[in-house]
Amino acid sequence: MKSQFAKSLLAVALGALAVPALAAIQIKEELYVVGQSPEVIKELVDAGTVEVDHVTSEGFELYSGTGVKQYLDSKNIVYFDMQEVSEKVFADYPTHAEITRKLVAAQAKNPRVMKLFSIGKSIKGKDLLVMKISDNVEADEIEPEFKYISSMHGDEITGREMTVAMIEEIAEKYGKDRAITDLVNNTEIFIMPSMNPDGSELRQRGNARGVDLNRNFPDITRDRESTLAGREIENQAVMKFQGTRQFALSANFHGGTIVANYPWDSKYDLHPLNDFIIDLSLTYADLNPEMSRSREFERGITNGAAWYVVRGGMQDWSYLWHNDLQITLEVSHDKWPNYADIPGFYRSNRNSMFNYMLQVHRGAGFVFPRPGLKGTVNIKQVSPASKDMGTYAFNESQFYKVLPDGDYVYTIQERSTSTKQQINVRVDRNTLHPNGNYVRLN
Ligand SMILES: [Zn+2]
Repeated sequence: MKSQFAKSLLAVALGALAVPALAAIQIKEELYVVGQSPEVIKELVDAGTVEVDHVTSEGFELYSGTGVKQYLDSKNIVYFDMQEVSEKVFADYPTHAEITRKLVAAQAKNPRVMKLFSIGKSIKGKDLLVMKISDNVEADEIEPEFKYISSMHGDEITGREMTVAMIEEIAEKYGKDRAITDLVNNTEIFIMPSMNPDGSELRQRGNARGVDLNRNFPDITRDRESTLAGREIENQAVMKFQGTRQFALSANFHGGTIVANYPWDSKYDLHPLNDFIIDLSLTYADLNPEMSRSREFERGITNGAAWYVVRGGMQDWSYLWHNDLQITLEVSHDKWPNYADIPGFYRSNRNSMFNYMLQVHRGAGFVFPRPGLKGTVNIKQVSPASKDMGTYAFNESQFYKVLPDGDYVYTIQERSTSTKQQINVRVDRNTLHPNGNYVRLN
């Protein structure tokens, strides 16, 4: 019944343009619906015809192909066109080439700890750049791995500018500032300021084909496996990159409101590490004055699905398929603020950004002496409570997982042997282990 109804509604709203459900929406209209809840267009959402984002008490964003304006007009629903932004606001921002130059300059300033590389090309051929930051940056050391990715929504630009500012600050202060130096020496940090450079150049949410990259990752509610087939090339690049690393903690930056959003996005059940993830989210929100004092979100954080459901987002994919705990950071009400305000945004976020990175040290891992080993590890917490924390795959002879404070037993089953090894590990947020909390196996 429901799909019938949705279909007929679609026919009215979109004429012959009806898109099959689950196909990627080619975004043509970017609207802000004023003073309504998404219930008013639930049928279109359920049919996969529109995407809703950033729901607040003021209204919500609506992304769609053509025809939805007409539909809203027919229902007398008030909206405005988000694409109508003054050219002046865009003019001062650096281009992709200028961003690249800034990153090259940061690397040149401190090449011992900065290494810039590309993980692929956008549709229009722009490099998808990542800065690796660590001591002995040319070597792949056994250290906890952390990542920031920004601006997969091309028009949500604040995070791109802030991550570049952070790279510049680290390049400047490494070796001089104790906290920054300790962090860099003991961590492998990867920062990708711009996952969607074409979208940023076009000042739009989607990539050059108009596809929303944060709806284009494998999704537990519809995909059995994490495969590249049929995904946008920007997503493929990030997925391949993730497969080559051992990320344990990540965040991705967006704009449109101010909040730290934690998994799950795609389903309503609580994440098995829910309390710990709330704690991690607060390590960001607490140090950001505007976020922590939010009137919309208690303490500046929210569960993803409780806010609104996202399917095909990066955050859930990252944990479900790669054991990489990830949160989504919304860092400015204006997606594209005046460029003169960017230093202020960086000032109010930089302590949070550094503090959140440091949290990757709240974890424990192990490493085999020989390369190329794969297998599984079961994790049991023995104190403060006795609890099975699940079984995880490892590859490349290493494993590391962020965990709440406590004592754990890891039972390690390497694939080529029948014997299991057990190790005892302790996680304590107040201890920064040199190069991370790893047990070296025999
Ligand atoms: Zn976004």
